[in-house]
Amino acid sequence: MPALSMVESRGNPYGGPGRHRSMNWKSLARLAYGSRYAKVPSSQRVYVRPGERWAREAQWQWLIRRAPILTLDEYAARTELGAIEEFLSCMMCGESRQQPLFEPAGGNGWRYRVVRCPACGFLYRNPNVRPERLGDLYATGYSGFLTGAYAANRQRRYELVMRGFSPVFDEGKERRLLDFGCGAGLFLELAERRGFDACGVDLSADSVEQAGMRLRRARAFFGAPEDVPEIAAGGFDVITLWSVLAHLPRPLEDFARFRRLLAPGGLLLILTVNAGSLLLKACGPGWNGFTKNHLMFYDSRTVRTLLRRTGFAGVAFAPHYGDSVEAGTTRLRPELAARLRRTVERGDGGNMMRVLAFADDEAIGRWGASLDVHRLLPPGGRA
Ligand SMILES: [Zn+2]
Repeated sequence: MPALSMVESRGNPYGGPGRHRSMNWKSLARLAYGSRYAKVPSSQRVYVRPGERWAREAQWQWLIRRAPILTLDEYAARTELGAIEEFLSCMMCGESRQQPLFEPAGGNGWRYRVVRCPACGFLYRNPNVRPERLGDLYATGYSGFLTGAYAANRQRRYELVMRGFSPVFDEGKERRLLDFGCGAGLFLELAERRGFDACGVDLSADSVEQAGMRLRRARAFFGAPEDVPEIAAGGFDVITLWSVLAHLPRPLEDFARFRRLLAPGGLLLILTVNAGSLLLKACGPGWNGFTKNHLMFYDSRTVRTLLRRTGFAGVAFAPHYGDSVEAGTTRLRPELAARLRRTVERGDGGNMMRVLAFADDEAIGRWGASLDVHRLLPPGGRA
């Protein structure tokens, strides 16, 4: 407990786990905006109040300048290490120095520490969970709630992401698709409906069993990709990672494997929480992306580093305006919805990140025409 109290009291405008400093924001906001935005849901408010993006960015820069930078030894000496944990250096750039930022905490008594890499800006949990102890994070019954309204909402979210990269996912045409971390098969069900030749893997035996009951043609397997011969053989046209990236303790190794499993012209689709989001800058440790089982937090820059280092040739992003705005069910007035869209586009793309990675030049040539593709490797280049 002693480790970060200094950061919290002096350098952290959000207050650590407490909330006394955010009261200041609340009263300031009341002065500036009155009750004009009181009915706007809090997750949208930060995107629609005039001037707030500027203020939150300034607040974030102030936090970064104030937070101390420690060597890994200094940091480790003052930070408790749990039985299933280990200290890490930055996996994106190798920098070992640590900038402690937040201590998110939640129900059932979980709490962890989030640091920022002072060299590349990557946010990650440190200490992190040792990969071989990852199973300890996932209690049994993990798949129990993946039904009914929850399932319908999830599937609508998947549809919206695919629409953002149209026409890539419009028709499967027997293309081979691997859903990594397929859970109870909610996405595989959509994929088989669209005509993909789809399979998935997951580390939850319960979920895989449920997927088996849900699916007609698609197959769900228990285990890691290398355990399943059909998957280890590779040759996939598409790999999908739905809310999986933030859970990976060894992302470079996993992404190098995904790259090998892709066929020439292959694509990798990622949905993950966006560590560059304005909502994170507004909420600090209370951000909804700091959930119990998340390990690493990417923004549009650090996800590019991950993809470039593992041999992907290009990447495209689709902004996330929030499910209700995109589905047309939002209760925001039209002018506020339009303002929200502008703020998302001028910032880092919203609170979730939608990423389409291109394995090689062939993939960019075949699918990149209607998308804004950023090259990660020069044409013809290899990592
Ligand atoms: Zn770094």
